[in-house]
Amino acid sequence: MTNQDLLQIAEEFGTPVYVYEAEKIAEQYEKLSSSFGEKARFFYAAKALTNINILKYVKQLGAGIDCVSIHEVNLGRRAGFEPEDILFTPNCVDLAEIEEAMALGVHINIDNISILEQFGNKYGDSYPVFIRINPHIFAGGNYKISTGHIDSKFGISIHQLRHIERLLQSTGVRVEGLHMHTGSEIKDVEVFLQGLDIMFEIAEHFPDLKYLDMGSGFKVPYTDDDLETDVRTLGAKVQRAMAEFEKSHGKSLELWFEPGKYLVSECGYFIVKSNVIKQTTATVFVGVNSGFNHLIRPMFYDAYHKIENLSNANGPERIYTVVGHICETDTFAWDRKLNEVREGDLLVFRNAGAYGFEMSSNFNSRLRPAEILWMEGKAHLIRRREVFDDLLRNQIEVL
Ligand SMILES: *Cc1c(COP(=O)(O)O)cnc(C)c1O
Repeated sequence: MTNQDLLQIAEEFGTPVYVYEAEKIAEQYEKLSSSFGEKARFFYAAKALTNINILKYVKQLGAGIDCVSIHEVNLGRRAGFEPEDILFTPNCVDLAEIEEAMALGVHINIDNISILEQFGNKYGDSYPVFIRINPHIFAGGNYKISTGHIDSKFGISIHQLRHIERLLQSTGVRVEGLHMHTGSEIKDVEVFLQGLDIMFEIAEHFPDLKYLDMGSGFKVPYTDDDLETDVRTLGAKVQRAMAEFEKSHGKSLELWFEPGKYLVSECGYFIVKSNVIKQTTATVFVGVNSGFNHLIRPMFYDAYHKIENLSNANGPERIYTVVGHICETDTFAWDRKLNEVREGDLLVFRNAGAYGFEMSSNFNSRLRPAEILWMEGKAHLIRRREVFDDLLRNQIEVL
């Protein structure tokens, strides 16, 4: 979509506003689904962006859905996903939440020994499960978004394989899938292959195995010269490895992935308005009508989001520090070269589809933005901007 389209949306729906370009999601899905062969399936990691319209859209593309809470499972059902196309991958939930998901008939992924034991004692071989393995591979952009390392709370350690086996033997639990998700933003194709090798090595311990789930970690570019996971090369290598496994083990497995960011990061634009230009002794601040209450990734992960001035695209370049208007240090970007920003100009953050709106809050009693789906050249309002009454919803006035 063009800057003109974004400006028009801002005019019609106001700012701050999140915009998602549907065709970009389709393009990303196509890149993945054409790279890994027929035995690969893709389960959209819903937590990246859960608007019901986005869920319905990825379903239309042919994806399944990966859910981390019972409510995401229910959103998935509401969006029309069949139970067999839903994988429930929670972390540190109690058995009751897993039982709610079982009642819906979705795939269950178990990530700790305690729940495996409780589940086994109660249900034995009556409901096959996935097991989430922590392979202890250090992967991902930084420590905060890496989930497979030794200190991680995710998964059952590969070194506890013997314990898993004992529990399966004594309870009869059948394992239909092995799962591994080692982190986000893995650039290096070899990390995936290393993970796959570990899966192959332990596969023979699980006679009922049908699925290998490699999680996600597909990286998207954040700047013009940034890298992205080379899915073509990865796909070719993975298919070769799967074929070899099939030959040597006489067994054919489905390969699953759980892309979140890869599908929805680049489809997203977050448009804000410059409220104030403030020259200090140290820098020139642009204070915008948003903050980490709407887009927390720069402050939380040191994430880089490209920013552009939509209102003055040909203005002279100057250097700014872009901050929000909440009462907390909420710096989106230091020392960023932007076309001259004037008070009232509209700025856009790129890569705002994944973990943008999803991680927003009402901090400072600010309202959450509207969400727009741009599809076939038209803007559809898919979430109303919050209003003052939303702040009081669920509050009970006892004084
Ligand atoms: C968050 C998550 C994903 C998606 O990760 P991305 O980096 O957004 O692709 C996939 N699987 C699981 C289990 C997750 O928790």
